[in-house]
Parts: sequence; structure tokens; C-alpha cells
Amino acid sequence: MRVSAQGPDSEEVSGGLDFARVTVLQGATNTLETPGEEGISRPAASCPCLASSSLPNEFMMLTLLRNASIYAPEFIGESDVLLADGRVAAMAPGLPDLPAELPHETHDLSGHLLIPGLIDAHVHLSGGGGEAGPSTRVPPMALSPLLKAGITSCVGVLGTDGTTRTIRDLVACTLGLRELGLSAWCYTGSYRIPVPTLTGSVRDDVVFIDPILGVGELALSDHRSSQPTLDEVLRVASDVYVAGMISGKAGVLHCHMGSGERGFELIERALDTAEIPARVYHPTHINRERWLFDAAKKLVDRGVTVDLTAFPEDGETLMAAEAIAQWRAEGLPMDRLTCSSDGAGCLPTFDEDGRLIQMDIGDPITLLEAIQELLKRSEPLEDFLPVFTSNVARVLALPQKGRVVVGGDADLVALSPEGDVRHLWAGGKLMVHDGVVLTPGPFEPKN
Ligand code: ZN
Repeated sequence: MRVSAQGPDSEEVSGGLDFARVTVLQGATNTLETPGEEGISRPAASCPCLASSSLPNEFMMLTLLRNASIYAPEFIGESDVLLADGRVAAMAPGLPDLPAELPHETHDLSGHLLIPGLIDAHVHLSGGGGEAGPSTRVPPMALSPLLKAGITSCVGVLGTDGTTRTIRDLVACTLGLRELGLSAWCYTGSYRIPVPTLTGSVRDDVVFIDPILGVGELALSDHRSSQPTLDEVLRVASDVYVAGMISGKAGVLHCHMGSGERGFELIERALDTAEIPARVYHPTHINRERWLFDAAKKLVDRGVTVDLTAFPEDGETLMAAEAIAQWRAEGLPMDRLTCSSDGAGCLPTFDEDGRLIQMDIGDPITLLEAIQELLKRSEPLEDFLPVFTSNVARVLALPQKGRVVVGGDADLVALSPEGDVRHLWAGGKLMVHDGVVLTPGPFEPKN
């Protein structure tokens, strides 16, 4: 386990840690300087959850979390967790104190629920919308709204507008979030077929462009879709499936479901017709209509994992929390369900002539609000948490994500019992402390 830089003045110490031998640079706390970076505010030493802090966040490679009630997402019980070099290095009750010579932080998380960072598989990172003229193009997603919602991993989508919006821009926004410390990926394509791409081919995009995991959001049963035929859908599904094999990525076809009465017909016919595995199809917005949600219950029997959207409350739509509670009450497979926010997407209402009569904007906070609503209903956290974490990681083939496990990425959220985000670590870095974002993006208001 690498803990700090090695050099001619380094010495081996075990420091009472029986799970790892570590190397420290002598006098490290004196030689590393605190850069005077604005916008990086360290939590005050007097903070009740913080035992010690000697270095700026960038150098804070060891973090000890004490007395956390862990949902991994299964319930583990109260335990300590050691974070090192962006990973979970150890997890056990009563881990030994770290020696003072090692730069580290200790947080007492008594009374908190420690969960994996949420994975939001549908965010319009470069902004969605534009369905009622250029003035309705939604601005790009900033970092803080994602962090405030407990999201440590996200996947960007383009949406309706694959004409003024480009994959190049989406990839740039994705890389920008990575630079700011979040884990981020994206899909190539938009609602359309032929699929707009960066390199000219779906396969090349998935195989050669690091953040691209698949194709999305391809619109089906929607007046804004390309009205694709079965053959056209199958060609895209086969390209993304084989590209996933070649690249070792998920190779997923993330489908936007509209309100059209054909519902999942094209996906069902694709499953009837072709040899492409069911795991490739990941239809979203399945709760936009109650009848579509009922149809989704049958689709999962065929091995498809379906995605709820955490729509804002409008008095009509089936809310994600209600849908999850119903799914569980009916004994449907919880591992076949995921939930995403549609953040920075336009949530339009159209009249019968396809004219926009009302519009809302998706906000990642609805993902957290769905969790809070489920907690309020006394639904067991360990039962529904996979919908927001480990199930999404499985669909996206991200084995380091979605679980609190030794060796996994240190993407963790400490929630209050009511489900408020109190602290958040992304890649082992503390980014939210006491509900305050420590690391806002460059164009966001500083705290
Ligand atoms: Zn959509």
C-alpha cells in the first residue's frame, strides 16, 4: 500500500498497523507545503467529527472513518473504515489509531449511515433541452448539484438535440468533471438514428474514447425519436455489444422510452429476433406512464434491467420512490432495477400537436429525495440501496463502484438518519463536509 512519497530519507515503519507495512518520508509534515489555493477550504480543526488535519485535501491520502453504520449496500453493522490512495484499504470494528507521523484525518461518524456514493446513469452533463427554441437549451451540469445529491459517479447523455449539441462537447464536459474529482463517463449518440458519434462509428467511439461506455439515450416510442425500424435498432445494439466486448466496457444501449403506446415493443422484438443478450438493453423513464411501468415488470423476466427516472413531484407521474416500494412489495427482482435523475435535462409537457406547453429541468437532488422518501416510508435501506448503487455499477460494468468493500473505490457518503448528505468522499477525497461543498467547480459560487 503506497501511502506517501518514498525518497532517500524514508524509513520503514509499521506504526501499529498490522494490516500493512507503510513507508513514510521523514519530516513529511514539515516538508509538504500548503498551497494557497482559493476555493479549497479545509474543515476547521474544531469540527466535532474531525480529529486531526495537518495537510491540504490533495495530500490527504489516509482517512480513518470511525463508528459508521455501514450499508455496503447490504447492512454490515458498525465498523471503522480506512481510506488510502483513493481506495477502501481496510474495514473492521476497532481499527488501530494511525500514528501521528502519518498525515491523516479521522472522522467520527457515530449516528451516520455510510453508503456507497450514488451512481447516476443519466445526466445531461452538457445540458439538455432545446425543444422549444434555442433559448430553452439547458446549461451544462455543474459539480456541486451532483455532490449535494450524494452522487460520486455519473454518466452523461446528449438527449433530443444531437444537432447543436455534439459528442465532442459531451466528452469534454465528462472529462471536466473527472478533473474536478468526480468519476464520470458518457454515452455516444442522442435520440437519433443514424447515431451521431465522435469518430464516425459507434464501435470506434466505445473502443477508443475512454469515457464512452455505450450508446444513449436512443429514443423509442416517442414523437421526437427517429422512428427507428427493428433492423436499425438491432444494428446499433450489435455494434455497441461487440464494441463492449472488444473494449472490456459495458457496451450498453441506453434507451429513452417515450409515452407512445408501442412501449417496449422494439426491445421485445429485438430479444425475440436476435442473439444479442438482454443485458445490453437499458431502457429508462419506465415510470413516466403507469402502464409503461407495468409493462417493464414483464420485461425484467427476460433479463433486462430497467431504469426509473426520479422525476420531480407533479401530482401525476409515478414517483420513483412509489415505484420502488411497489416493486419490492410485489416481490419483483430488486437487482433488475436502477434509478437515475435526468439531471440538467428538459422535462417537457407537449400538447397533442407536439407543441411544448410546459417545461421543467431535471435536478440530481431528486435522486436523493427518492431515497429520503423511501426512508420516510420505513423501507429497508439495504433492500432499495442497490437500485442507486450496485445495480447501476453492474449494468455499467464498473466493478470498483457501487459498493463499500475493501479494494473498492473510496466513493462514500455519510448520510443523516433522514438521508441528508452530511459528508462525501469521491476517490478518497473529502468533497462535502457537514453538508457544505468544499470543492465547488471553477464557475460556481464559493462557499
Ligand atoms: Zn430521455
